[in-house]
Amino acid sequence: MSSPVLQPRASHGASSGTDELIESLPGVICVVDGDWRITAVNRRAVELAGCARGELLGARIWDFPVLAPNPALWGELQQAMSRRTPFVRQVEASTLGIPLELHVMPHRDGLLLQALERATPHGGDEHHATVVRLARGAETRARTLQSLTAALSGALAEEEVSAVVLRQALPAFGATAGDVVLLSEDRQEFRALCWVGYPEDLIREWMHYPLESGTPGRDIVQTGEPLFFSSITVIEERYPRLAPILRANALSAYAGMPIVLGGRVSGVVSFNFPAAREFTEEDRAMLLAFAAQCALALERAQLFNAEQRARAEAEAANQAKTDFLAVMSHELRTPLTAILGYEELLADGVSGPVNDAQHLQLERIKVSAMHLLQLIDELLTFSRLESDDERCESTPIALATILDESVALITPLAAARRLTLAATPPAQPYTLFTDPAKLRQVLVNLLSNAVKFTERGRIDLTASCDDDTVRIDVRDTGIGIAQEYLDRIFEPFWQVERRTTRRAGGTGLGLSVSRGLVNLLGGTLTVESEVGVGSVFTILLPT
Ligand code: ADP
Repeated sequence: MSSPVLQPRASHGASSGTDELIESLPGVICVVDGDWRITAVNRRAVELAGCARGELLGARIWDFPVLAPNPALWGELQQAMSRRTPFVRQVEASTLGIPLELHVMPHRDGLLLQALERATPHGGDEHHATVVRLARGAETRARTLQSLTAALSGALAEEEVSAVVLRQALPAFGATAGDVVLLSEDRQEFRALCWVGYPEDLIREWMHYPLESGTPGRDIVQTGEPLFFSSITVIEERYPRLAPILRANALSAYAGMPIVLGGRVSGVVSFNFPAAREFTEEDRAMLLAFAAQCALALERAQLFNAEQRARAEAEAANQAKTDFLAVMSHELRTPLTAILGYEELLADGVSGPVNDAQHLQLERIKVSAMHLLQLIDELLTFSRLESDDERCESTPIALATILDESVALITPLAAARRLTLAATPPAQPYTLFTDPAKLRQVLVNLLSNAVKFTERGRIDLTASCDDDTVRIDVRDTGIGIAQEYLDRIFEPFWQVERRTTRRAGGTGLGLSVSRGLVNLLGGTLTVESEVGVGSVFTILLPT
């Protein structure tokens, strides 16, 4: 058979000329544009889809399973679309299982698809009627599965998944009762996840029941095969204990499908029908497709639950760590305050005269105790930031004042290492509305790091402002930080090189706390650095 060749017309858009031409062609015709949207169809295509022509026009052809070409041809179809090349294939309609001859021809900016039924090359009317009937069935099944998939997409708990499956399946198959059961870990007991259509007292009794309770479920999980019983008589023979229960609830035919999770039969989805009925091949395939969808959604729900559990455990562990740090820091602070208090009493000569050597030793006690206090405060701030308990107390403050105060605190350290330390405030005096204690804490942190990691050279603290940002830079001529560590140094307890840092001291919390505090002030803390040249830590704060 030769492919009809359609000459593209000069005008674009729907035209009655093309419509007539399409109508005159044999078989089912669909014209799609470059986006696979249907631009024209003949009467046979409309009949096959079982909906109004208006619904088809403009919709994507893939949304209509009975019209869509077999997905196996996807590659060739794409080529035909992009290279404008026609082709003809003997195929089977994916949803109907009917042998077809598919003609694909370039047409306008898209393709014209013509499906001819091979049994009757020109698609006799009688044969076509049968195909339409088949197509309606296939379309309904495809839509039922599509709507199940859509309904399942939002279900995240096992019980919810089972409820969705039963809610969708019962009306679709004409069943009046059903349940979803899962095997326990030791595979000795069934647990009902969800049920519909059984009386309350029955449910209570069957919430949990041993595998060996004389139910079809046992045979299904043991063989991995579905069971279909057309009437209660068949059930009576094989499951004498179950039959009276079904009779009492006016239930007859039964379908039970295995639920396969992670490659193992782990449960059963069952449907009970009010009357005797046969299960055709199509019915069985459809019920199995439902069970497969159910299993996929259950697997996803189990993964989601496991992930939620792991996350909750991690959060609990983190909270325990934060609580521990907060309690410990607090407990350490109290005796330390006492040490500092007694040091002050001794130094003031309250308990008697103090000679020069003793003064020197008392001064060392004080410096060490102050250092310890600073470390404890850092831990406390860290645990408050972690548990979102840190609060800001903003007031107007001159930027130059904060810079000077911070430099004053670090000057003795810089002098001890023979480093130049200078502060350059903005050209114009600037008043900032911020929490001065927190900003000072950050600057002292950055400056003491700069001193710690600089052997020679200088440290500069500079500030500038424009309309909406205050920028503060802490620049040093120290050892620098390798590019790959620039993000990591802001992680708590992380230090570039334990050995270097051990020599330099520190907890690895300074930068994490500093970034947390700057963020709390509404700003950002970033770094640029070059190994052997130095580092610049930059704070940007909103004005
Ligand atoms: P620490 O208590 O170790 O100083 P920080 O969080 O303040 O903890 O710093 C983390 C690590 O980042 C430091 O151990 C050091 O390796 C690196 N670092 C911080 N500031 C500088 C700097 N100015 N120059 C070079 N390395 C730095």
